[in-house]
Amino acid sequence: MAKRDYYDVLGVNKSASPEELKSAYRKLAVKYHPDKNPGDKGAEEKFKEASEAYGILSDKSKKENYDNFGHAAFENGGGGQGGFGGFGGFSGADFTDIFEDFFGDFGSGRRSSRGRNSNNRGSDLRYDLSITLEEAYAGKKQNIQFSTSEKCNTCKGNGSKPGSSPDRCTYCGGNGRIRSNQGFFTVQQTCPQCAGSGEEITNPCANCNGQGNTQTAKKISVTIPKGVDDGTRIRLAGKGEAGTRGGTSGDLYLFINVKSHELFKRSDVNLFFEFPISLADAALGTTIEIPTIDGKKAKIKIPDGTQDGKQFRLKGKGMPFMRRGDYGDLYVQIKTEVPVYLNKEQRNLLEKFREIENDKSNPGIKKFFQKAKDFWKS
Ligand SMILES: [Zn+2]
Ligand SMILES: [Zn+2]
Repeated sequence: MAKRDYYDVLGVNKSASPEELKSAYRKLAVKYHPDKNPGDKGAEEKFKEASEAYGILSDKSKKENYDNFGHAAFENGGGGQGGFGGFGGFSGADFTDIFEDFFGDFGSGRRSSRGRNSNNRGSDLRYDLSITLEEAYAGKKQNIQFSTSEKCNTCKGNGSKPGSSPDRCTYCGGNGRIRSNQGFFTVQQTCPQCAGSGEEITNPCANCNGQGNTQTAKKISVTIPKGVDDGTRIRLAGKGEAGTRGGTSGDLYLFINVKSHELFKRSDVNLFFEFPISLADAALGTTIEIPTIDGKKAKIKIPDGTQDGKQFRLKGKGMPFMRRGDYGDLYVQIKTEVPVYLNKEQRNLLEKFREIENDKSNPGIKKFFQKAKDFWKS
C-alpha cells in the first residue's frame, strides 16, 4: 500500500503554520491514542501514522526534505524502525520530546507534580493604577473594576448541571494522570482530557457550559499603602481569576504608576523643590514660605549672601517610608534670578552699585582673578 502524504494524514495543507500542524496532530493523537482505544488496531495505526507525519513536518529540515523529495527522502538510513515501529527518520528520543511538548500544552504548563489540581490554578491578573504624588504620600483606598472569571453561581464551580455530578474521567480512569508504556519508553503525564482532575462533566451546567467559571466584571476596594513609589507592585493573593474544578485562584497584581508632580521631584523617600528668589533677596536675606507635600506650608529663613544653588534641608518633610513610621526629607534648592527688563531707576541704582562693588562684597570674583593672574605669570 502506498504511503499516504503526510499533509493528508494530518488533514492540513502545505502552507500550514507550525501551530496548525501541532493542533492538527493533537486532535488526532487524542482521538486515536492507544490508551483510549484498547485493542483497536486501526486506531493504533492511525496514531502511529499521525505521529510519524508530525515528527517529520514539525522538524524544519526534515520538512524541507519531505517537501522536496517526498517519502523518498527518508527511505534509506532512516533508523528507528524498532520498538514503537515505523518511525522512518526519527528516533525515540525525538518522539519523547514531541510527546512531552504535546501534553505540556494542556492545562497551564505546570508540569510539576504538585498535586492533582495544580494545573487548574486560575490566571494571575495585572491592573495598572495611576495615582498622584499626594496620593502616594497619604495612601488611599480605591475601588477598581476589572473583568475576571469567577466561580459559577449556578453549579458552585463544579461544572455540572445542579442535581448531577461529574463522572470519573474515562480517559484516565479517574487518576488524573496517564502512563504511556510504549516499549522503549514510558511517559507519565497529566490527563489531557480532564486536565488532571480525574473527572468528566457529563451533564454540563448551562450557565458556564461546564467550565465552572463565568466571566464577570468585578469591583473591589484596594488599599494603596503610604509611600508607594512609581513601579511598586502590590500582590493581592487570590484576587485573580478563579481556578477550574477546585483549583485555587490566581493573584491580582497592582502595578502602581505615580504621576510626576509640577513642583516636587522625588528620589526614593526624598523630595526636591526648586525655589526662585530675586538677586536682592539673595544678597540681603529674606524669609520664604514654601508648600509641602502634606498640603501645609513651611517657612525657611534665607540668610543674607545666599548663593545660587544653595540647598536647605527640611527634615521629615519628604515621602513616608513604606510600612515604617518615619519620613524622608525635603530639599529646597535656591535658584537666584538675575533681574531682566530693568527700568531707568533700577538701571541707575545698579550702575551706582557696580561703581562701589569691591573685593570684599565679591570674594569669589577676587579669588578667581587671583588664580588667573598666577596662571598668566607662570
Ligand atoms: Zn456552572
Ligand atoms: Zn482524565
